[in-house]
Amino acid sequence: MSVVSAQTLKRWIAKEEEKTYIEIPFAVEGAVERIEVLYAYDRSDGPAVVDIGLRSPERIVGWSGGARETFFVGLDTATPGYLAGPIPEGEWRILLGAYRIPPGGCEVRIELKLAYKHPRWIKGDLHMHGVHSDGSYTISDSIQSCKEKGLAFAAFTDHNNASQNLATLAADDRIVLIPGVELTSYKGHANLLGALDALDDFRVLTPEQAAEALRRAAGKGALISLNHPFCPDCPWELGFDVPYDAIEVWNGPWRPLNETAVHWWQEQLAAGKKIVAIGGSDTHAPHPLVAHGTPTTYVKADAESKEAILQAIRDGRVVLSFGVNETFIDLSLGSAGIGETVNVRGESDLQLTVNVRGAAGDRIELWSDRGIEQEWDVEEEGEFTMRVQADRLFYRAEAKRFLPQWNRTITSCLTNPIYIGHGD
Ligand SMILES: [Zn+2]
Ligand SMILES: [Zn+2]
Repeated sequence: MSVVSAQTLKRWIAKEEEKTYIEIPFAVEGAVERIEVLYAYDRSDGPAVVDIGLRSPERIVGWSGGARETFFVGLDTATPGYLAGPIPEGEWRILLGAYRIPPGGCEVRIELKLAYKHPRWIKGDLHMHGVHSDGSYTISDSIQSCKEKGLAFAAFTDHNNASQNLATLAADDRIVLIPGVELTSYKGHANLLGALDALDDFRVLTPEQAAEALRRAAGKGALISLNHPFCPDCPWELGFDVPYDAIEVWNGPWRPLNETAVHWWQEQLAAGKKIVAIGGSDTHAPHPLVAHGTPTTYVKADAESKEAILQAIRDGRVVLSFGVNETFIDLSLGSAGIGETVNVRGESDLQLTVNVRGAAGDRIELWSDRGIEQEWDVEEEGEFTMRVQADRLFYRAEAKRFLPQWNRTITSCLTNPIYIGHGD
C-alpha cells in the first residue's frame, strides 16, 4: 500500500449559497496518521471569500476561516487552530463557509492528502533543559532550534520538575514534544520520558529509594533511561538492579564518559543482556559544542507520534549519530532489523546488510559479542552485504571518524544490536 493517498475534490458554489456552510465528505480508512488539506479558488475576479475547516466523525477539529490556504492534522502535531489527536476511521468532512461569493459563483478546489502509518527512521533529541530548570532556552526557543536542525521530536527533561511539560501543551509551533523529567539526585540522574508528571520525589539516596521512584514512574507510563552513567561529576551510583528501559550511552559531544558507557554496554550485551542504548544532547543554553541534535537519536517508528517513538525505543529500534546530517547506519540480518531478533535453526551463517550514508571517510566496525568482527572504510555511502557467523548473540555497528580539528577519533554513529536467537 502506498504511504500517501491524494485526491482532488471540487465544489461549485453558487451566489445563492452565500453565507451558508457546505460540507464535503471524504472517507478515512486504515491507519491514517496525518491529513493535509490545501484549497484554492479564483480570488482575482470579484470578491470571493471562502472559509475552511475540518470535521471528524466526532467533532469539529478546527476552523481557519479565510486565514490559511493549507493546514494539517496529525496524531501529536497540527496547524495552530486545529486539534492534534487520534484520526479515527469513518466519514470526515471538509467544512466550507461561503462568506462572499461573486455573482457568477466560484469553484473551490481542494487537494486532500492522507498519510498512512508505516515504519521509517525519524530523528530527534531525547535530552534537553531550559528555563524550567538550569537552562536558558524557553520551550519555544528549544522547539525553534530543533526545527531548524530538522528534528522531528524533542524530549523536555528539566531537572526534577514538571512545569516544562505543562508549558509544552501550550506551545503553538510544534514538533512531536515528548514530556519528560530528569530525576537528578546526588547519586545519579535518570530520564523519565513520556509522562507529564512522572516523578513524585527526586530525593533518592539509596538504590532502594531509586528503585521505588523509578517503579512509580514506570507505573505512570514513563520510559526510564539511566543517564550518563559514567559521567565524572554525576555518575549513576545507585546500581543497575533498579528498573530501567534504556541506558544513555551517548551524552552530548563524544567524550571519554561515552566511551566508557559504550564499553560497559558491550560487556552487558556480550553477557547475554538486551539493553537499549540511547543518546541525548543535554543542551541547556546556546553553546559551541553542546547543541540540540548532538547526538541525534534516530528511531524507527510507525508514525510521527509520541506513542510510536517511545514504542520504537522500548523495542531497541534506535541508531545514534554524531549530528543531524552525519553518519547513519541501518542493518538487516536475514529478515530482522535493528532491535529485532533473528532465530537460527541450524544455519551456520547469515546474510548481513549494512547501509551507510553521510559517512565522511568513516571507518565502519561490525561488532558481535566476540568484539570487532570486521572493519572497513566508507567514503560517503554504500550498501555492504556479507555472510556472518550465526553462532553469535548479536551484531551491531559503529562508525569512527578522525576529526583533524580536534586531532582525535570520535564515534560518528552507533546502532543498537540485531539479536540472534538460538532456541528452538
Ligand atoms: Zn544529567
Ligand atoms: Zn540533563
